[in-house]
Amino acid sequence: MSYDKIEVPDEGEQITLKEGTEGEIEVPDNPIIPIIHGDGIGKDVGPAAQKVLEAAAEATGRSINWMRVYAGESAQEKYSENLPDETVEAIREHRVAIKGPLTTPVGSGFRSLNVALRQTLDLYANVRPTYYLDGVPSPMKAPEEMDMVTFRENTEDVYAGIEWEAGTDESEQVRDFVEDEMDFDGIMHEGDIGLGLKPISEKGSKRLVREAIDYAIENDRDKVTLVHKGNIMKFTEGQFGDWGMEVAEEEYPDEEVFAAPDSLWETQDEVDIPEDAVMVEERLADAMLQWMQLRTDEFDILAMPNLNGDYLSDAAGAQIGGLGIAPGGNFGTGRMLAEPVHGSAPKRAGQDMANPTAMILSGRLMFDYLGWDDASDLIRDAVEETISSGKVTYDLERQLEGAEKLATSEYTDEIVDTIEQLS
Ligand code: NAD
Repeated sequence: MSYDKIEVPDEGEQITLKEGTEGEIEVPDNPIIPIIHGDGIGKDVGPAAQKVLEAAAEATGRSINWMRVYAGESAQEKYSENLPDETVEAIREHRVAIKGPLTTPVGSGFRSLNVALRQTLDLYANVRPTYYLDGVPSPMKAPEEMDMVTFRENTEDVYAGIEWEAGTDESEQVRDFVEDEMDFDGIMHEGDIGLGLKPISEKGSKRLVREAIDYAIENDRDKVTLVHKGNIMKFTEGQFGDWGMEVAEEEYPDEEVFAAPDSLWETQDEVDIPEDAVMVEERLADAMLQWMQLRTDEFDILAMPNLNGDYLSDAAGAQIGGLGIAPGGNFGTGRMLAEPVHGSAPKRAGQDMANPTAMILSGRLMFDYLGWDDASDLIRDAVEETISSGKVTYDLERQLEGAEKLATSEYTDEIVDTIEQLS
């Protein structure tokens, strides 16, 4: 495909789908990878991540051919729109890409670009590995007990954007429909009211839970916990839990996956679980936020609807050192878009201050998807060694006694030097 404003690198090959497979990718040693630096601190952490990923690829005998693509403020400048079609098409065509944070003003009628990208590309699973890096300050007594991966449904729930503004004809029409035609006899207060829909589908729930269980099997994990609020929202969150348990019960052999009976209400201490089987259980979302702090080491893989996943993964990130550290990625069938958990932090933007670790580790997750395990390990070792030596950005420095505060660019250079020394 030819593009209007995107410059295609002179060298490099495209990542493609392996023939005869539905979602396996074929990765050359010199892939073209689209990158969106992002808004706000994206201008600092985007180029930083690029440098570190390049160094790790080169140290393991590969090369990355970056292709800058635009969304948010940078797209507004170049195209006078926030999400140009050719950005979406370039990411679709190249299958694997990485992005920094994009700003979404609250309540402005401006649709989230992140949500739009995830929906348009059908990146249905938002995956956030939450693991502790040596040397990182944490408010927890035993942060190293955290080694969890959250799978958040990424295309539906109240994030689907099906909502009507208070004071509009549409919201009144929906109110009338619900009250008159659907015979709703609960409380909707008189006067202006904002209304929204919470779609939770069988397709969306099952493919997400399947993804989480497959990950658990492939990565030798013990347990998948389905996190929902089904005691209150029975036909959406509760249904998510039921469909998830159905996947565990019906789609895998018993010796591989064990669906824990009545796990919402009964402890599983007495249950005989086949050796090596992945246990699939349910937990209520409010209780889960408590267990995650009090019994961190009991949890492994979490799978949940969109909103729960948003809240819970940020809270999990805080336990291992905060948003500056927390990586993520959006996965679809044969495609992936890596992105840090954090936002554009406008107050710190363009000051060479922000912590690029979250975006660097999101790149590490991308390397895992490419099958570049050696480069991925190298990044983890280099980041850990740099932080352990007390060289950190401002957000960690203020929590670490005796640490040295580095600018984004200085911290990045330290990691690149460490990669070169380790390889
Ligand atoms: P935020 O993540 O930008 O910032 C929250 C806090 O964390 C701030 O105090 C910030 O300084 C700190 N922080 C975040 N990342 C950091 C880093 N790398 N290094 C050091 N400190 C860091 O969240 P917010 O303030 O709620 O949102 C700001 C904007 O970002 C909003 O427009 C929001 O919609 C958007 N956002 C985008 C994404 C995304 O692109 N995926 C995710 C979340 C928020």
